[in-house]
Amino acid sequence: MRLAMIGAGYVGLVSGACLADFGYEVVCVDRDDARIANLQRGVLPLYEPQLDHMVAENCAAGRLSFSTDLAAAVAAADVVFIAVGTPPSGRDGDVDLSAVYAAAKATAEALNGFTVVVTKSTVPPGTGDEVEAIIRDLRPDADFAVASNPEFLREGVAVEEFRHPDRVVIGTDDQRARDVLAELYRPLEANNVPTVFTGRRTAELIKYAANAFLATKIGFINEIANLCEKLGADVADVSTGLGLDRRIGPKFLNPGPGYGGSCLPKDVRGLIRTAERAGMELGIVSAVEAVNTHRRIDIAARVIDVVGGAKDATIAVLGLTFKPDTDDIRETPALPMIAALQDAGAKVRAFDPKGMEHARKLTKGVNFASDPYECATGADALVILTDWDSFRGLDLARLRAVMRRPILVDFRNIYAPDDLADAGFAYYAVGRGGWPSPVSDLLDDDSGRVVVVRPGAIARARSGR
Ligand code: NAD
Repeated sequence: MRLAMIGAGYVGLVSGACLADFGYEVVCVDRDDARIANLQRGVLPLYEPQLDHMVAENCAAGRLSFSTDLAAAVAAADVVFIAVGTPPSGRDGDVDLSAVYAAAKATAEALNGFTVVVTKSTVPPGTGDEVEAIIRDLRPDADFAVASNPEFLREGVAVEEFRHPDRVVIGTDDQRARDVLAELYRPLEANNVPTVFTGRRTAELIKYAANAFLATKIGFINEIANLCEKLGADVADVSTGLGLDRRIGPKFLNPGPGYGGSCLPKDVRGLIRTAERAGMELGIVSAVEAVNTHRRIDIAARVIDVVGGAKDATIAVLGLTFKPDTDDIRETPALPMIAALQDAGAKVRAFDPKGMEHARKLTKGVNFASDPYECATGADALVILTDWDSFRGLDLARLRAVMRRPILVDFRNIYAPDDLADAGFAYYAVGRGGWPSPVSDLLDDDSGRVVVVRPGAIARARSGR
């Protein structure tokens, strides 16, 4: 089978490489000339474990190639995947579908023989109808079917998850398209992967609903963590006790700085907006969004409070990516936290194993270090924001020796409180008590930036004083 993958980003590149590994002939197409030129030279545009080997092996075997010539790739393909970005288009939750529609138009012009056009990008329900209308309008003569095949892979474990997904979802009413896609994913039968065959809109909604549910689990456990702090309970044990219930499951029950990344925030807002357009309000999902937005403000305030005020303090931040094993910093909680600390007068130092190149372009005045110890040097507090494995076994004595004050704020709960106490640290972890009473007020202004204001100022403003 010959495949064209439009969009050579996290999803397109991983999917393209893995499908080539199944034995198909795959051409990954992107409109970014530099990206394609680099890929043709074997230079990957992103970091994802195992992906470099997968790409190199399949290119060497002649099954995987990269091109900017969309028309040629589509004309030769039995299946065309649209895996382009669907970023937010503003603050109101709308999704920018222009890349999907541009890909659909370009595909229409090049269609040749029966072709299944598959939306792999995460899109609002109904987008497949629009893609079909665009193609039908431009090419009334074309023999094609449009299907939805949402992607559920997670960055950091994307190759593994593409090869061993929990399920494959195929949304189309067209029997020929169903047969082609069932055949395409047949190699996964050996791993007993279930396939859900359904309608196109339903498939699109499954993806949005899945991400909203995962965000709900994270928001829920963060709220329970806050309650643990008030009650003197330990959220780690609450998570374990909850997760052992098979109806609930253990995943996505780790409290932290709030969800981020290129998917959960935009898909939660996209689902809320989809419902609004359909004339209804999603109370639970809207609450999840509000809780997460507040969390971003709250983590900066907590850091300021533990150091007793940000002015002239130096804060060392470990972890800039929204999760470990990726270089992706889209919607990471780190950037608004750093901006809020700087606004409050703190100097910020930072280190991340993979995310610093992107973060340099999106921050100002941050001192980037080459390792955790250099980052901590002279700091009043060390803040762990991402649970990279390499942060789990830091030499505490060495850290303490280089820091100005031995304060560790662990937003991922990767250390044991007793170990930190033994090493002479004041240790603050999520959902484990011991935090000082809040003194800082921060708010999210209309542009989405977290702003620090004087203690009590919000309460005074609200009361009109
Ligand atoms: P990305 O930004 O990493 O990659 C998108 C690529 O598409 C870019 O290289 C861009 O140049 C290219 N592109 C855009 N318009 C194009 C066009 N008209 N023709 C050719 N190329 C074009 O995005 P991503 O993270 O891979 O996400 C892609 C989609 O998959 C999104 O809808 C996202 O929500 C969804 N998704 C992402 C993940 C994830 O973990 N990143 C997981 C599941 C689903």
